[in-house]
Amino acid sequence: MKKTGIGIWCCGMLLIIFALQSCSKEKIGLEDQKKNPITSQKSFSPISKSFYSEPELVTYSLSNRFYDESLVATPCEATEFGNVLSGYFEDLLKDPLFNFELLNYYLELNRKYVTYYVGDNYYGEDGEFNQLGKKRMRELTKFWNLNREIILNGQHTAFLNDREILTDMIESFDRSVRNREEAYAKADLLLAFNESSPNFPENPYFAFDAFTKSNGLLVIGDGLLKSITDIGIDSKLAFTAVLAHEWWHQAQFEYDEEWDYIDQFSNSAEISKFSELEADFAAAYFLGHKRGATYNWKRLEEYFRLSFNVGDCLTQSPSHHGTPQQRLLAAKFGYELADSAQKKGFILSPSEVHSAFLEFYEAMGI
Ligand SMILES: [Zn+2]
Repeated sequence: MKKTGIGIWCCGMLLIIFALQSCSKEKIGLEDQKKNPITSQKSFSPISKSFYSEPELVTYSLSNRFYDESLVATPCEATEFGNVLSGYFEDLLKDPLFNFELLNYYLELNRKYVTYYVGDNYYGEDGEFNQLGKKRMRELTKFWNLNREIILNGQHTAFLNDREILTDMIESFDRSVRNREEAYAKADLLLAFNESSPNFPENPYFAFDAFTKSNGLLVIGDGLLKSITDIGIDSKLAFTAVLAHEWWHQAQFEYDEEWDYIDQFSNSAEISKFSELEADFAAAYFLGHKRGATYNWKRLEEYFRLSFNVGDCLTQSPSHHGTPQQRLLAAKFGYELADSAQKKGFILSPSEVHSAFLEFYEAMGI
């Protein structure tokens, strides 16, 4: 199995649907931009483009893309989850201080920050998933027995309201800023802006990432968890399910050479679909296993049905995850595998689960 990228973005379809930016790419624009000729921070108002150091102008229309028919056609019609997400987005758009450049600037800073951050972590806005996070990570470590250190970084909107953290972000990733002093000055202007906006940066959208890197990093944003719980899914199940899905991507990295089935795929959409469906399959295997998270199918089905039916109908997209029906089916078979194996009281190895998934994948003719 050869991967061209070293990261897997798991909520890519959401960001694509909302047409903010492509999150399937590894690189983040801030690093690539040219240095801005900033000579005096005070001369920039928070609505100036150069203040945010945007790498390039956005050329598509936000609202047109958002209401693009192809994105809401069957089987991706508006759903509860879709409604929750568009609610966040409408809140943003209705904010009198809405600023597209700042939106992208914050999204990139917060993504970049959790990609490189090393240190103490908390999970959930107020650390409400701290204990569960530790417990599930212990369980997953034992369950899959991967030969790598896996780190979970929590992503929070509060990072963008914290003077020291925001300054760290700006100093590290905004190349228009030359030193910490300038970074503080920019952070202070942004914090003043934040104070007058109810959405910047509190809107869940600013912590909406869920992704995996080949170096063992997992990232789960509070905003993504909030969106799942806002549709009525139990928050612990949501956290565990997202974590288990991301964890499997680490198995895919670990067995990159051995698992060569995807070598036959010629485009990244196919590779992405395969990898994502397998992550759903394996996550459901762990979630339903008696020596895993022990959820019953009724609860899992609710999670998978609701969280997936926002859909990913961009079947040609390089970050395609499979359609909602395919994802639900993959999860169901993963669960059934656990249900049948658990009677024998053992846990299948990652390669055995991978083989079982291949059987499913080929039988389905996806
Ligand atoms: Zn994924």
